[in-house]
Amino acid sequence: MEEKTLFSFGYNLHPTKPFELLNGKVTVTEKCLTVFVGDEIEQCIPLEKIAELITNMGVGCVFLSYKEKSDGSIHLICRGDARHAKKIIRAARDFNIYLEDGRLPNGQNENHNKCKKCGRPINSTSGKCAACRDKKETFKRLWGFLSPHKLFVFSSISLYFIISAINLLLPILQRIGVDSYIQNQNSKDINGFILVVLSMLALQFIMRAITVVRSQLLIVASNRMLVDMRNQLFQKISQLSISKITKHTAGELMHRISNDTNAVERFLTNFLPGTLEQLVVFVVVAAYLLFFDPMLFLLIMIPTPFVVLSFRFFWHLMRTLFHKRWQAASKTNTVLHDIFSGIRVVKSFGMEEREGKRFDDSAKEEKNLQQKTDGIWSILMPIIRFFVGFGEFVILFYVGNKILDGSMTLGEMAQFSAYAGMIYGPLGMIANIPRHFIHFMTASSKIFEILDEEIDVIDAEKSVDLDIEGNIDIKDVSFGYDSGNEVLHKINLHIKKGEFIGLVGPSGVGKSTLINLVMRLYDVEDGSITVDGVDIRNISQDSLRSQIGVVLQETYLFSGTVYQNIAYAKPTATMEEVISVAKLAGCHEFITKMPDGYNSKVGEKGSTLSGGERQRIAIARALLHNPKILILDEATASLDTETEKQIQDALANLSKERTTIAIAHRLSTLRNATRLVVLDKGRVAEVGTHDELVARKGIYYGLVMAQREMSNIDIND
Ligand code: ADP
Repeated sequence: MEEKTLFSFGYNLHPTKPFELLNGKVTVTEKCLTVFVGDEIEQCIPLEKIAELITNMGVGCVFLSYKEKSDGSIHLICRGDARHAKKIIRAARDFNIYLEDGRLPNGQNENHNKCKKCGRPINSTSGKCAACRDKKETFKRLWGFLSPHKLFVFSSISLYFIISAINLLLPILQRIGVDSYIQNQNSKDINGFILVVLSMLALQFIMRAITVVRSQLLIVASNRMLVDMRNQLFQKISQLSISKITKHTAGELMHRISNDTNAVERFLTNFLPGTLEQLVVFVVVAAYLLFFDPMLFLLIMIPTPFVVLSFRFFWHLMRTLFHKRWQAASKTNTVLHDIFSGIRVVKSFGMEEREGKRFDDSAKEEKNLQQKTDGIWSILMPIIRFFVGFGEFVILFYVGNKILDGSMTLGEMAQFSAYAGMIYGPLGMIANIPRHFIHFMTASSKIFEILDEEIDVIDAEKSVDLDIEGNIDIKDVSFGYDSGNEVLHKINLHIKKGEFIGLVGPSGVGKSTLINLVMRLYDVEDGSITVDGVDIRNISQDSLRSQIGVVLQETYLFSGTVYQNIAYAKPTATMEEVISVAKLAGCHEFITKMPDGYNSKVGEKGSTLSGGERQRIAIARALLHNPKILILDEATASLDTETEKQIQDALANLSKERTTIAIAHRLSTLRNATRLVVLDKGRVAEVGTHDELVARKGIYYGLVMAQREMSNIDIND
């Protein structure tokens, strides 16, 4: 019987020959790790020989090797480029967990959550694959945007049909006016002629009035739809985990929310109804002409195949260009956002010129692509106009001949010419469909790309709102970011309610990652984190985060007043509450010295305050909703020693009723900690009080000594 494959992954580079491409695959069964090149087995390594799999990053590639159990020697298995790196790294981590525990990590079973058609991950919420989404479904979803406003849109389409009916009627009246009165020498009925003219005038008036109402309806529908779409997109982005959001630049996301929604809205509420209306007019007029003069109809239709063929010819080119134009526009947005966000750095390094050039290059690229698309359009349109003009010329010739031989009147000629115009009008609009359609499809695919993003941190179906006490249990937690190796490996930590835990370790060891996991900004890959015995994946995110107070090293103050910034997480807070936490965080004094006190504007990013002042406001903000768990990530790093001491004392009082996890580079900051947890190489290396760890003379002792040497300050003082 064939052995069951636990998991498999592909690779594409020869392990040792730098530029040789391969079609390789590695499969893992319970007994063996098999390396394939095409269908040939390259090597088969029994699992019992492997101590662990190791990944190493090379230039633009990743090497996968295994460590031999018997002698610790390292052997190369395979190599993959950047596209394969993520999968190879992930597989190595899964494999190591399998070797250690005899089981695959949470939910990492073969082909779980993969599309059967293309193998891409499927959306866990919709259960569908974004890439294989069929067109019918796309339009169904677009209808979802339009349907709440269908009353407005269909009313406007109905009104357009009235306008069109009037438009069809006017040439008939015109014919009657010409043939029965102007051309008819015998007619002395001036009243009849006046009646025809007045009817035409009245119809014109009614038509304009209906046009105004119709425009208003469309304006209401399109604006409402735009707001809905932007809200939906914004909601979705805010539901995504930090790792998903940071895959996109801020400028790109802004481009999607503002420009792409605009393009989709314009298409759905303007272009689509317009085209539908024109199509109906086209069919009605064509049927009328076919009935009264089939020959004339055929002549009118002569340019149509040429117009259609011209469009088919340019279609693919236009589609690629529009896609590139979207990317260029998004890049320009990103560059602009980057420059303005970092304007202080730009100015302080005198880089205005270089940044100006960066923007200029990006804008030029966009301009060039725009020129190309407009250029193609400027070639295409005259070709189409030529065919249409040719059609009009043929009609004139045909109708002129009929008038000359007396089989058509002048009035009929006027009527048919007007109808011919009504045929060519829609034809012109239909000619525009590809341009708008490509633009619309590009924009909507970008919107759906976001709307279909898998929400990786989601509330469980039966998630609970927990009244948190503050016991945290971290059990066998392993985690790595998408782009790199495992950051945390089998972390175990039991934190009791009210404890003050100091997380210590060299930079990049995974301290912030661990607290990100506790806040559930990411989900653990393996193991679990529980709060008061409940897995945090089963606690509603709102409930969890509203009871965790966080102060980060990088504080972000929103543009607004000091009061609004402190009351950010609890907008209903009274001034007394705000003042009391401001006093605790040591910022009351400097706030009252500001010209408008708590109503002083702090400007975008709080740029009018010093780093330490901003930090203290952030601490007050975190304390306001009286969190049961307090997380301080280098929170006091930008404070001077004196202020830090004050805040430490305040925090010492506050942390009595709450669980505190603090990361601090300056070890003296953690003097109040009940326990210190030292992380090293992604694992918990030491746990104990300051005195215990110093006595142990291990990693912590080394860190203390190094800092003492640097600052000559005894951490005991
Ligand atoms: P510490 O807080 O101990 O300085 P971090 O937890 O910030 O360390 O980072 C641990 C490792 O994870 C580092 O190698 C860092 O480069 C990486 N890392 C941190 N955040 C991300 C991220 N969003 N995506 C990819 N890698 C990350």
